[in-house]
Amino acid sequence: MFSDIQLPRDIYASEEHQMVRETIRQYIKKEILPNRERWEEQGYCDDSAWTSAGELGLLNLSLSEEYGGGGLDFSFSALLIEEAAILGLVAPAISMHSDIVAVYIEQYGSELLKQKYLPDMALGKKIGSLAMTEPGTGSDVQAIKTTAVDKGDHWLLNGSKTFITIGYTSTFAIVACKTRPGTDQEGLSLLIVDANLPGFTKGKPFKKLGLKESDTCELFFEDVQVPKDHIIGEEGMGFIYMMQELPRERMTIAIQSIGVAQGAIDDTIDYVTDRVAFRTPIAGFQNTQFKLAELATQLSVYQAYVDKCVKLLATHELTAEAASMAKLGATELESQVVDECLQLHGGYGYIWEYAIARRYANARVTRIYGGTNEIMKLMISRKLLSRYTAEAKAKRKRRREQKVS
Ligand SMILES: Cc1cc2nc3c(=O)[nH]c(=O)nc-3n(C[C@H](O)[C@H](O)[C@H](O)COP(=O)(O)OP(=O)(O)OC[C@H]3O[C@@H](n4cnc5c(N)ncnc54)[C@H](O)[C@@H]3O)c2cc1C
Repeated sequence: MFSDIQLPRDIYASEEHQMVRETIRQYIKKEILPNRERWEEQGYCDDSAWTSAGELGLLNLSLSEEYGGGGLDFSFSALLIEEAAILGLVAPAISMHSDIVAVYIEQYGSELLKQKYLPDMALGKKIGSLAMTEPGTGSDVQAIKTTAVDKGDHWLLNGSKTFITIGYTSTFAIVACKTRPGTDQEGLSLLIVDANLPGFTKGKPFKKLGLKESDTCELFFEDVQVPKDHIIGEEGMGFIYMMQELPRERMTIAIQSIGVAQGAIDDTIDYVTDRVAFRTPIAGFQNTQFKLAELATQLSVYQAYVDKCVKLLATHELTAEAASMAKLGATELESQVVDECLQLHGGYGYIWEYAIARRYANARVTRIYGGTNEIMKLMISRKLLSRYTAEAKAKRKRRREQKVS
């Protein structure tokens, strides 16, 4: 197994970490696996998956105890994400709820919003989604068209969002919108919009290639009156908040990808030691041995990098570029690992009841969401070439000034 050759990982070494690991294992065994096929059919998981996670203390792990959170550092969330990925958990999307949506509220929200949402989120009674992407724009966040006009005592919200994780089952969404439409500075802001507000409707969960038990859907807003105090932080600061939080979101994806890759290697070791061809277990072929050795080596290297980033995120020292590199590298590796591992399963790898088939389908999206891997490359190269870009900009400015004089 991969764990037999892993280096010691001090970030997850404490007894408390082991307790969290054991709790998530038991939770998946008892609450998730018996229901998974039914949830895949219906396209979403039952609310009870959230409340039981809440009862076990698995939600909002790294939020403060004052608001019902676990009061732990980010390494505990990271452990939960990784262990869940190793075991193939897809829904409920705990990380979106706890490590992204709840964090926006705790970091930037008013006391009123923290009190109203966070304790119930920790119990799984309120479920939150994050709605940025629109039918017309994904990568270019600044181009969003959803508007919220100041009407004195409320914001009048109009527009639509798409591809929203847990959009269908969430009880509220954080919605990115323009609060000064038609002006030079259109003011990107974040509003909390409760799902029961008149004018807020949802599409059916999309039928997807993978992540079938986790709902993804469209959200529609038609003259929705959002209470004035449901804005997160300051009006017009939404883009800054999103840029500050994206590294955390990218790390959750990188950690998950590392976990999926580990799970895929372990599944494959089990399979190849069992399956016989030409009167020899598949594990006896040099191709199998070399493939697994290569994949395990690459995974070990990426795991060390991701572990380092987790530590830096826990102490608020992680740069946006390092998070982008973690997301880019880990998700590309994940895709390669699930593909090569599926190949080692032969035809059974293509059959849904085999874990590797699910992993293969689920993994494809990690190179797309949370910012596509092309956008990650843009961010990394921008920093790498910052001196060149600054010099080129200065040159262009000088040329313009010479032309004018
Ligand atoms: C299952 C799933 C869950 C999701 N969950 C959420 C969610 O919870 N909340 C949310 O807000 N969104 C969510 N998304 C949306 C996701 O974040 C977007 O799909 C993603 O950001 C890409 O945007 P897009 O689909 O509009 O693609 P586009 O932006 O249209 O990109 C299309 C292609 O062009 C490339 N491209 C775009 N710009 C550039 C550039 N400047 N240079 C080079 N290449 C470029 C992209 O890399 C991509 O290959 C989810 C998507 C999926 C599939």
